Amino acid sequence: MESAEFRKQAHALVDWMADYFEQVEDYPVLPQVKPGDILKQLPTQAPEKGESFDAIFKDFRDIIMPGMTHWESPNFMAYFPANKSKASVLAEMLMSTLGAQCMSWLTSPAATELEEQMMVWLRDILGLAKHFTGVIQDTASTSTLAALLTAREQATGFEINERGFQQEKFTIYTSEEIHSSIDKAVKIAGFGLENLRKIAVDEAFAMQADAFEAQVQKDLAAGFQPLCLISAIGTTSTTAIDPIADLQIICERYGLWHHVDAAYAGTALMLPEMRWMAEGLEGVDSFVFNPHKWMFTNFDCTAYFVKDPKLLVNTFAMTPHYLKTSVDEEVKNYRDWGIPLGRRFRALKLWFVMREMGVEGMQAKIRKHIALGKWLAQTIEAHPDFELLAPVPLNTVCFRYTRGKADALDAINKEIMDKVNATGKLFFTQTQVKDKFALRLSFGNTNLEAYHVENAWRLIVAMAEAK
Ligand SMILES: *Cc1c(COP(=O)(O)O)cnc(C)c1O
Repeated sequence: MESAEFRKQAHALVDWMADYFEQVEDYPVLPQVKPGDILKQLPTQAPEKGESFDAIFKDFRDIIMPGMTHWESPNFMAYFPANKSKASVLAEMLMSTLGAQCMSWLTSPAATELEEQMMVWLRDILGLAKHFTGVIQDTASTSTLAALLTAREQATGFEINERGFQQEKFTIYTSEEIHSSIDKAVKIAGFGLENLRKIAVDEAFAMQADAFEAQVQKDLAAGFQPLCLISAIGTTSTTAIDPIADLQIICERYGLWHHVDAAYAGTALMLPEMRWMAEGLEGVDSFVFNPHKWMFTNFDCTAYFVKDPKLLVNTFAMTPHYLKTSVDEEVKNYRDWGIPLGRRFRALKLWFVMREMGVEGMQAKIRKHIALGKWLAQTIEAHPDFELLAPVPLNTVCFRYTRGKADALDAINKEIMDKVNATGKLFFTQTQVKDKFALRLSFGNTNLEAYHVENAWRLIVAMAEAK
C-alpha cells in the first residue's frame, strides 16, 4: 500500500470509528447469527493476487460487522465488561504503527521505562503498599500461572525448574467460587487438579478462613506440602470478597504464598471508600488486576504486582547468548518477568488513559457504576416477584424471577434471559448461585448512564410479566 493510499484509508477508518462510537447503541448487542453464518461467506483460500483496500473494507462491513458482539455498547451487561476509552484506542493506533516488540530495555527503552513508571502510578492510585513492584502481563490467567510457578520455585530453591518434580506433594488452596483460570494454572504448573483444594464459602460467597486453616492442617497431617493460596477480591460469579487479612495471617502461620486475584474488582480500589476490600493486602506475595476489564483500557492489559521481583525474575529469566545486551545489569528486561518473550507496548495505553481521564475522571465513572449496582439491588429487593441471590458490593447483580413452581424457576429464568437477549436491546448472561439459575447483570461500560440500567431492568420485568 502506497503512502497516499494509506493516508486516505486511515482517515476514512477514523471517521468510521468515530461513527461507530456514536452509533454503537443502534446495533443489536448480540448479533443475530447462527453458527457457521460468517464462515460460509468467507473464501476457502487466500487470494493469489492482492485486493484493493476498498474491497477488503467493504467485506469487513458486510460480513464481519453483522457477526460482532458489541462489547462497546452500554447495553452489554454480560460476563464482566471489557471497557475502553477513546484515548486507549488512539494509543493502540500508535502502538501498532510503531510495531515495537518490547521484550527488553534495548528493544525500546521508552517502553520499558514508561511501563516502570505506569506501574508506580497504578500502584499508588489503587492505594497498594509501596513495596509492590508491578509489571504488565497479557491476561490475569497468565499472571496467576506466573504466581503459582514462582511459589513453586521459591519453595524448592528453584529446583523444579532444573530437575522437574521429584517427590513433592504440593497442595494449592482456593475457594469454591474461584475463576476457572486457577484450575487451568494448577494443571499447567504441574500440581494436578487433585491437589487443588476448594475451600467452602460463607453466606456472602467469601472463603471461610477457618475452613482454610483446617484444610491446611489436615493436609500437613497427611504428608502434603501446602504451597499457595489464591484468594479473590471480586469473584467472577458474584464479586464476593474474600477476607484477605484473615487469610494472610494463616498463610504466614504455615508459610504459604498468597496470590490475590482481583481481575475485575481491583479497579474499584481507586476509590478510598472501597479500600476496605483490600485490608491485609500489604502482606500478600502477589496481586493481579485487569485494567482491560473496568479501567477504560482496551483489551489486553493486565497489571501484576509482586512483593519480591527477584523471585519472579529468577523463575523466568532465560538469557541465551543472542539476547544478551551490554546494559543488562542496569535495566529491567521485562521478558524475564513473565511467560512470553515478545511483549506489546501496552504501557502506552495506560499512560494515555490515566492522563486523558485523570484519576478523578476515572473515579467518577467507577463511583457511578457502583451506585447503579446499589440502585438495582434495592429495586430488585423491593419487587415482590424478584429476589436478589447474592450481596452486591459493586456493579454485578445476581437475581431471579420467583413466580412459578420452585422446580420450574431455573427454566423460567433461562427463558426470560434468552428472550431478552434475542431482542438485541440488551445482552447479559447467567450464573449459578447455590444451585439456582441466576440472572446476572454486570455493567461497567465507559459510557454507561442510569437510563441504561433502568431500561435493562424494565425489559427484564416486562419479559417476565409477559409470560
Ligand atoms: C476475568 C477474570 C479472570 C481471567 O482474566 P483474563 O485476563 O481473561 O485471564 C480471572 N479471575 C477473575 C476473578 C476474573 O474475573
